[in-house]
Amino acid sequence: MINSAKKNLDERWIGAMEQNYGVPAISLVKGKGLYVWDESGKKYLDFLGGIATNILGHADPAVVKAVSSQIRTLGHTSNFYSHPQGVGLAEKLQELVGHQSKVFFCNSGAEANEAALKISRLTGRNRIISTEGSFHGRTMGALSLTGQPAKRAPFIPLLRGVKFLPYGDIRSMERSISARIAMVILEPIQGENGVVPPPPGYLRAVRDLCTKHGVLLCIDAVQTGMGRTGSWFGYESEGIIPDIITMAKGLGGGLPLGAMITVGNDVPHFSPGQHGSTFGGNPVSASAGLASIKVIEKKQLMKSALLMEKSIRRALMKMEGILEVRGRGLLLGIVLKENIASELAALCLDNGLLVNATSANVIRIAPALTVSHVHIQEFAKKFALSLKKVSSHE
Ligand SMILES: *Cc1c(COP(=O)(O)O)cnc(C)c1O
Repeated sequence: MINSAKKNLDERWIGAMEQNYGVPAISLVKGKGLYVWDESGKKYLDFLGGIATNILGHADPAVVKAVSSQIRTLGHTSNFYSHPQGVGLAEKLQELVGHQSKVFFCNSGAEANEAALKISRLTGRNRIISTEGSFHGRTMGALSLTGQPAKRAPFIPLLRGVKFLPYGDIRSMERSISARIAMVILEPIQGENGVVPPPPGYLRAVRDLCTKHGVLLCIDAVQTGMGRTGSWFGYESEGIIPDIITMAKGLGGGLPLGAMITVGNDVPHFSPGQHGSTFGGNPVSASAGLASIKVIEKKQLMKSALLMEKSIRRALMKMEGILEVRGRGLLLGIVLKENIASELAALCLDNGLLVNATSANVIRIAPALTVSHVHIQEFAKKFALSLKKVSSHE
């Protein structure tokens, strides 16, 4: 069903763009709430949310209002000057963390982890523990922390001194951690790896080991944060306090915004001149972040995320071909019995549903926190239809 406008844009895309994403399957021109439209006018139910980023869906009125009024008033200042939006958002994040903390703003998840990496060097140590299958970003530093060999291989040599341990395996952490390690970095749920949660108690046990050896614990909440998994940062269910939290994706309500938050007394801090970002935490992105947090609070969307998770799980339970559903809140991995995930995602697209295949047998969904029962019914219908079609091809 490739229309000529799309074909034309594909050709232009190939002619103009670096090919790192492969040719995108569709191109979008409009979004509203949980829906997006392509240039032929076809409507899609968006259950991927710009990869866990459009936390309130598309064109949320509060975000639109905050951003448009801010760009009209003051758009960019550089960090030579302060502004109420940046300070206001930092104070709000401090409140959400609930412990003594300080905030550095940047524009993306990779940059937030770069900042954490630089903070870890200020301990005077330079070894880091990360986990196999983890994803922390694509810049050279963040890639050095990412436990996915295929993404790393073309770009070696990366930073030295990073050790990758099996995710969720506390024994190997016990064996490898020592006072020579600067930082352990962990996702509360591994997102890009196919929504893999650790066994219960893992984060708690890692926290205890880090405390014992004086090692910084950085929680990469870039994908799990902003209420997506039923709490602000995704680690709260284990009652731990990290030394560093990194955020991005949903933080800006769809605008580019990242943050690195240092927590407590045991973490070093940047001194003037040691780090920076031209755009980081600019008034427009900060106003979008602040507006998004207020909506999440006002509409109690974290509670809703957990209720909607139940509803999605109930719907999926009735379908054949699914081995398990893992994850929490509105970050879920649908594990299929067979390796049909990319074919299934393509059929979902045909049927007007956006989801993402993270591997041969896992479909990831990360809809906006504003998802409702009606959306979930529509999702279930389209997903079941696609699943039936792909199974009948087998
Ligand atoms: C997406 C992601 C990143 C990288 O974020 P970018 O904004 O793409 O740089 C880092 N960590 C996690 C856990 C992510 O999901």
